Amino acid sequence: AGAAMCVGLAACGGGRTGQASGEGSKIEKGDTIGISMPTKSEERWNKDGNNLKKKLEDAGYKVILSFADDKPAQQNSDIENMVNNSAKIVVVASKDGTAVGPAVEKARDAGAKVIAYDRLIMNTDAVDYYATFQLEQTGVLEATYLIDKLGLKNGAKGPFNIELFTGSPDDNNAKYFFKGAWDLLQPYFESGVLVNPSNHGGGVSKGFKVDDWQKISVQSWKAEQAQKDMESILDSTYAHGEKLDAVLSPYDGISQGIINAIESKRPDMKPGTETWPFITGQDAMELAVTNISADKQGETVFKDVNKLADAVYEMIVEIAEGKEVTGVNGTFNNNKIDVPSKLLDPQNITKDNLDDLVKAGYITQDRFDQLV
Ligand code: BGC
Repeated sequence: AGAAMCVGLAACGGGRTGQASGEGSKIEKGDTIGISMPTKSEERWNKDGNNLKKKLEDAGYKVILSFADDKPAQQNSDIENMVNNSAKIVVVASKDGTAVGPAVEKARDAGAKVIAYDRLIMNTDAVDYYATFQLEQTGVLEATYLIDKLGLKNGAKGPFNIELFTGSPDDNNAKYFFKGAWDLLQPYFESGVLVNPSNHGGGVSKGFKVDDWQKISVQSWKAEQAQKDMESILDSTYAHGEKLDAVLSPYDGISQGIINAIESKRPDMKPGTETWPFITGQDAMELAVTNISADKQGETVFKDVNKLADAVYEMIVEIAEGKEVTGVNGTFNNNKIDVPSKLLDPQNITKDNLDDLVKAGYITQDRFDQLV
């Protein structure tokens, strides 16, 4: 193999993970594949799970699809159940990337391949592959939107008041989302153009480190938690008509909590006017389509989960046929090994290109028309 061309362990063919299944471990049509999703309560995982299930069933595999209700113990028993039903491959979008380790180790010990779906499984060598969207790029898109809207590249001096939130502390993705955003925003904190006047999470200042991201996190990505946090920020810091210019939010559900808080605490702020802050998000959820069209949310990061299901489906077919997995374009380290990874591109959505969601087949025209 041409060493110069290899990207990641699988393509290099030299690592202990990412190898094609050996003789004898061929997976037949009719064999079982497990799909373990973290929760039904966030829109995307329903799509993720059902898309992949359908593709696999259409191809003749049996599928066990479980949703863990955001409970790590539930997810581990879901995966054990798959193993007990002789699942040959388990696909796991973890609720807690670390807590799920022992369950996937059991799967590996029983001879199954393990694919980390969207969220990396941490601190174990029992992960064969990972498929997700370029993680930092989500934060890059969010920060770029804010920088653009605040006119920072054009020399706007501010200072602008910004509040910042990160995702769930048990989700490895959340740190990368923040890193992508912080690398772009930090220089404006350095120059004093951006300031974070609240003491949320101890306050974000120019010396804030990416590794401190959990200080401003939202447990389990919950809208209710984000709303509470935002209400206390508004009470402590914006109770006397102070201007709130922007909110870095990593997920549409969190953005909804932030919007609810603003609407209840600061009814003088009006969407579509200068009084309303620029708010980001992620996932192109239905509620975000509505919020964006109503000028409440400015931006969301669209990750086409149909494409992620396709990518993972292709992986599964290659593993089943005993072939080397193709399309690996990077690796992610999970504190134990470098996991061969397929990384897809997320896309920026604002009011200007909201109907790209229809064009991509992510949402039907009828549904879109109901939401906007
Ligand atoms: C996913 C995001 C999602 C978030 C909350 C993350 O792990 O990558 O797409 O918005 O979880 O469900």
